[in-house]
Amino acid sequence: MPERTPYIAANWKMNKTVAEAAAFVDALLPRIAATQCDVVVCAPFTALGAVVERRYGTAVKVAAQNMHEEESGAFTGEVSAPMLVELDVEAVVLGHSERRQLFGETDEALARKVPAALAAELEPILCVGESEAARDAGETEEVLERQLQADLAGVESGDLSRVVVAYEPVWAIGTGRTATPEQAQEACAFIRDVLRMRGAAADQVRILYGGSMKPANAAELLALPDVDGGLIGGASLDPTDFAAIVEAAG
Ligand code: PEP
Repeated sequence: MPERTPYIAANWKMNKTVAEAAAFVDALLPRIAATQCDVVVCAPFTALGAVVERRYGTAVKVAAQNMHEEESGAFTGEVSAPMLVELDVEAVVLGHSERRQLFGETDEALARKVPAALAAELEPILCVGESEAARDAGETEEVLERQLQADLAGVESGDLSRVVVAYEPVWAIGTGRTATPEQAQEACAFIRDVLRMRGAAADQVRILYGGSMKPANAAELLALPDVDGGLIGGASLDPTDFAAIVEAAG
């Protein structure tokens, strides 16, 4: 099986001013100087420039938390892939459950956004995950397969390994409830199988777990065979906690 470089991403959501973002990066960098992981900071649009400036020459990559699929046009309030690339942003979170639930993000839009990100050489971090009701109804795999098939419909099979997939059970995001290692492994292995059936070089795809990951539970989750990293919300706001998770990834 090919080695997959661990991928640890901080999703700050709507947190951190420019000054706070700069202070975070200055505190983080010495703590992760020896890491072999891909470390990614998903910052609000306004803080992207400050994070980019400070991370030059380090292992840290910078991601936005959303983008529009068109390059430009009459889309008030939106930001496009070329605008992010111009800032030296390298990745973009797409389909986070907060965007799906609170801002009406649809699978149809994601089917356009993922190829648009790839065409612009931005690495999409595609989030998928079931609600609590779906899990209770035994529909977790059905939901994951439906989201993956729909959101990746416009991606050539040869490009699928350029997508990072984050398994984020909605009931575990920001709730303090973490999926058990068995639940996380089962879902991530299932995601890899779906990608394989879509013709992906599935052993090369990084699949992350997200949902109340913190220093105390990171090592156990990151050791799972099909979990290649984490997408971390709350615990990523503190550089010491986030650095501890990076360290747990090896
Ligand atoms: C997230 O925002 O993607 C997330 C996983 O949040 P938290 O770690 O706070 O559950």
